[in-house]
Amino acid sequence: MNSRRDFLQQVSLGLGTAAFTSFPALANQLAKGANQDKKLRVAIMGLGGYANIVARGMQECKLATITGVISGTPSKIETWKQKYNIPDKNTYNYETVGQIKNNPDIDLVYVITPNSLHHKHVLQIAAAGKHVICEKPIADNAKQAREMIAACEKAGVKFYIGYRLHFEPHTRELIRMREAGAFGKVMHVNNYAGFKIGDPTQWRLKKSLAGGGALMDVGVYSLNGARYCTGEEPIWVTAQESKTDPVKFKEVDETVTFQLGFPSGIIANCGCTYGFNNVEGLKLMGDKGWAQLNPAFGYGPIRGNTHLGPINAADVNHQANQMDGIADCILNNKPDPNVSGHEGLKDMIVLDAVYESLRKNGAKIMISR
Ligand code: NAD
Repeated sequence: MNSRRDFLQQVSLGLGTAAFTSFPALANQLAKGANQDKKLRVAIMGLGGYANIVARGMQECKLATITGVISGTPSKIETWKQKYNIPDKNTYNYETVGQIKNNPDIDLVYVITPNSLHHKHVLQIAAAGKHVICEKPIADNAKQAREMIAACEKAGVKFYIGYRLHFEPHTRELIRMREAGAFGKVMHVNNYAGFKIGDPTQWRLKKSLAGGGALMDVGVYSLNGARYCTGEEPIWVTAQESKTDPVKFKEVDETVTFQLGFPSGIIANCGCTYGFNNVEGLKLMGDKGWAQLNPAFGYGPIRGNTHLGPINAADVNHQANQMDGIADCILNNKPDPNVSGHEGLKDMIVLDAVYESLRKNGAKIMISR
């Protein structure tokens, strides 16, 4: 997507008619030439692997731009300053980040640090009075997630989770079709996400920084997918864990399967792993038809099929698409497509229950909210 025309084309091709409330309005606005200079000014906190992917993607953004960085590594700040034309006065480390409060060039901070730091970092950003996007999983547990939501509400700032798939056209189309009744009554869902993790010394394998293992990192996609395949909230869970490498996965889970029971009677069978590759897919089975996304959760291209034929939707840059979508929500005061802190909390409540089930040898855990 290299030009404004491509973007508008993508918006109209990718999202169909009623699929998405905010982007058609955005397209109209851009077409009229309104709001073109008004961009959401974003500082990125934590300059690791995913931050670099987000920053690259954001070069395509129409409504969001990078204006600042927060990092504990001076050499990374230097590189980002050069690469993204960031002035010195918009650079911070983890000790000085509170001063961002006085910086009028930054509207929002995107927290892309290890999972267990999300809670602390979102509280810091809320206290500084800036809007915040936090990467998934929202936090280590639902208690922290509630505190983060409360802090953002108290500070009067918006709080989003980096649930990029909620802006992704194939995923949006599947949700639209399900809501329109194309699959009839949803009867079963089957979702898997995962990959074989490398470096045994990385933070993802340390409980104190990751909060958990595959379940926290990629199980959240299986779970979030089950929620958007059903449009319901699970009321119970059961879960099982398998561990083939107890040394590498001493602190965190390697492979977890879990079942979610929904109020209408649907059971979703979900799984996630750090132990093997080629494990990504989402399948929804209804009494009138079915839908499948495979790949379903990666950076794309996402591919979809249904009993009616392939899902024809645009391939987008997920990160640019998400950032323009969130910028549109903030700049134009629009509702978000299920990417709020509250959505992150809904997933976290279920993840807490899955871990409780694992601790209790697969016991059925009723979810209280
Ligand atoms: P990473 O290890 O590549 O980057 C993490 C960054 O945090 C590094 O720059 C590191 O220096 C910094 N950091 C700050 N304090 C740290 C500390 N105490 N210990 C270790 N690192 C510290 O990790 P990543 O892959 O960029 O993941 C970061 C977050 O982004 C995670 O929450 C992850 O779940 C999320 N993520 C989301 C997606 C997505 O598709 N939405 C994809 C990848 C990662």
